[in-house]
Order: sequence, then structure tokens, then C-alpha cells
Amino acid sequence: MPTNIEWANLTDNIIRAKRGGWWCQKISEGCKNCYSEKLNQNSFFGGNKQPYSGQPPELVLDTETIRKWGFQRKPKKHFVSSMTDVFGEWIPRSWQHEMLDGMFVLEFGLKAQAQKKLLRESEINKQTIVLN
Ligand code: SF4
Repeated sequence: MPTNIEWANLTDNIIRAKRGGWWCQKISEGCKNCYSEKLNQNSFFGGNKQPYSGQPPELVLDTETIRKWGFQRKPKKHFVSSMTDVFGEWIPRSWQHEMLDGMFVLEFGLKAQAQKKLLRESEINKQTIVLN
């Protein structure tokens, strides 16, 4: 999803509550004024009004968004999971692996694109030298 965050091009909240909204667990002083929890308290923004304490609601992993990373052709800055902690202990390890695999495929794809471009440019340069 496009974002107004100045250092990111898009936010990918790949982990969400199954019935809408998000969930995270406040674990430190740094979580005191959690922006995500405030947003989650507001149904206008799609929140489920559950506090970020106690037991998590049923969560889902958005595998479709992760799969689409593999088709990206230009570098973009993704803010992955701005609404939760993807490495929280309530997140299944297999989901974390799926996310990291998706990032690897994205990075590999972009490097392959860059290498193809370099190869094409070097071919063009070779042809230019031959023509000269
Ligand atoms: S999203 Fe989670 S980790 Fe981040 S501030 Fe809120 S409760 Fe803390």
C-alpha cells in the first residue's frame, strides 16, 4: 500500500488480525505511545479495538503480498509490518521464514535485473566499439 512515510515507498502489513485490524504486544517503555495500537482502537481506520496486551487474536499471514515481491522489477523501499513486530514470540517461525524467503527472492530478482541491464549495456558498448 502506498504511504506518506517519507523514507518508504509502501507499507506491507503482511500480518493482520483475521477479523480485521492488527495486533502487537507492548513489551517495553518504547511501546508506551504505540501509534499502531492507537490506530487499531479506531474502527474508521479498520482497527479491531483490541488492546496490545493479553492474548493475540487469530492472525493471518498475507502470503499473496509476499509472493508479489518476487515480481517487482524496480527497487522500492518497503516498510514491512508497520503495525506489529514480525519477530514477536507470538508469530510462528514458519511465517518469519516465509517473509525472509520473500525478501530474498525480491533482492535476488532485482540483482538479476541489474546484472541483465549491465550485460545489455556492455553488449551495446561492444557493438559501439566494433562500429567505430
Ligand atoms: S507496534 Fe508493537 S513493537 Fe511497535 S511500538 Fe507498538 S507494541 Fe511496540
